[in-house]
Amino acid sequence: MSTTLETDICILGGGIAGLWLNARLRQQGFSTLLLETATLGGGQSIKSQGIIHGGTKYALHGKLTTAAEAIAAMPGRWRDCLEGNGELDLTPVRLLSPFHYLWSPGGLVSNMAGFFASKALRGRVDAVKGEALPAVFQSPRFKGKVYRLAELVLDVPSVIERLTELAGHSLVAAEPISIERDDNNQIACVRSGDLTIKAQRYVLTSGEGNQALQADWGVEQPAMQRRPLQMVLVKGPQLPGLYAHCLGSSPKPRLTVTTHPTADGQWCWYLGGELAEQGVDLPAAELIARARKELGELLPWVDLDDSQWATLKVNRAEPAQSGLVRPDSAYVQGVHNALVCWPTKLALSPHLSDLVLEQLQQAGVTPRTAQPVHALPQPTAATPIWDTCF
Ligand code: FAD
Repeated sequence: MSTTLETDICILGGGIAGLWLNARLRQQGFSTLLLETATLGGGQSIKSQGIIHGGTKYALHGKLTTAAEAIAAMPGRWRDCLEGNGELDLTPVRLLSPFHYLWSPGGLVSNMAGFFASKALRGRVDAVKGEALPAVFQSPRFKGKVYRLAELVLDVPSVIERLTELAGHSLVAAEPISIERDDNNQIACVRSGDLTIKAQRYVLTSGEGNQALQADWGVEQPAMQRRPLQMVLVKGPQLPGLYAHCLGSSPKPRLTVTTHPTADGQWCWYLGGELAEQGVDLPAAELIARARKELGELLPWVDLDDSQWATLKVNRAEPAQSGLVRPDSAYVQGVHNALVCWPTKLALSPHLSDLVLEQLQQAGVTPRTAQPVHALPQPTAATPIWDTCF
C-alpha cells in the first residue's frame, strides 16, 4: 500500500552528520524524517577512530592553519554534550579516553618543542612526564616525548546509539531511494518503494552515497572526492589503551592509534595515519607485515604475539578539492530546495548542523508541519567493525 508523508525536513542518510542534524532540528521544533538505506552509522562513521579533533594534527608542520582554527571549538562542544550541558544530551555516550596524545619516538620533536610551547597552542598541547604519562609509555624502554592534546576519543557505536534514541520515531529504514524533480529542477519528492516523502527542504547527508543521489536528481555540483585508506586492526586480550598520534618526519602523523573494546571482551588497536594512507594499494598481508614492523620499532615492549590482525579498506567522502587535499571545515551547499552536506570529520558534525540551521533561517524555512506518525520499519545500528573484521 502506498504511503505519502509530509515533513518539514527530509534527511537522506543516517551517519553521524544526518543523525546529529536530525536531533538538532527536532530540538528546534522542526518535524523530520531521516531515511537510511543500510545501517545507521554503517558508512564512514562506525569506521572512524572517534577522535574529537581540536586541530592539533593539522598544526604538525609548525603553524596553525584555518582548519586548525575552525575545528578548535569542537572538543569543548562535545565535552559539554557528554556532561549534559551541551546542545544535545550525550551523557550515555562512552568516553574511551579524555585525552588524545602526541608522541615522538626519539629526538624528532625537539624542533617542534618551541612551537608546542608557544602561546598559540597553550592549553591545547601540554607536555606530560612521569606518572602523568599514559601507562603504555611508562616502560623504562620508552625514550621519547609525550604531549597531551585537548582532544577526546569517543566510542562511536555508543554515539550512534544515543543519537538514534534522540531521533524518536523520525527514522525510516528505506529501500533504494529515487529523487523526483519538478520542471525547475527542485526536488518534488523522494520515493522509496511505496513510500513518498514531501518536505520543505531535503538534506543529503549520505556520505559517499551523495554522489549517486545527485546523479539520480541530475545535479552535478557540488562534486565529491574520495580519499581512500586501508586501516589496520590488531586484536588481543592484553593490549594496553593507546590513544595517540606518533610524529614522523612529515606534517602528517606517522601512525594514529586508538583502542576499542570488542564484543568478546578483548581490545582492538585501530591503526591509521600515514600507514593507512600509504598502504591503500598494498595486499592486506603486506600492510599487516608493515604494521607489525612499525609497532615493533615504536613500542617493542608491547607483546603482540597472540594478537589477531586484519585490514579494512574505506573511503573518506568529501567535497572535491583541487589536488585531493583535505577540506578545511564542515561543508554545506544549498542546491535549489536541498542542502548537500559532508561533515569532512566526525568531530565537525556540530559545525555542520550550525551551517544547515543558518541556511534554513536565511531561506525563511521554519517549523510548519506536525511530526508525521508512521509505522514504517526503523533502521538498525551498524555492528562495530572490531566485531566484524576478524
Ligand atoms: P557516513 O557515516 O558515511 O554516513 C552516510 C550514511 O548514508 C550511511 O549510513 C549510508 O548507509 C547512508 N546512505 C548512503 N546512500 C544513501 C541513500 N541513497 N539514501 C539514504 N541513505 C544513504 N573524523 C573524526 O572527526 N575523527 C576521527 O577519528 C576520524 N577517523 C576516521 C577514520 C577513518 C578510517 C575514516 C574513513 C574517517 C574518519 N573520520 C574521522 C571522518 C569521519 O568518519 C567522517 O567525516 C564522518 O563519519 C562522515 O559522516 P557522514 O554522516 O557524512 O557519512
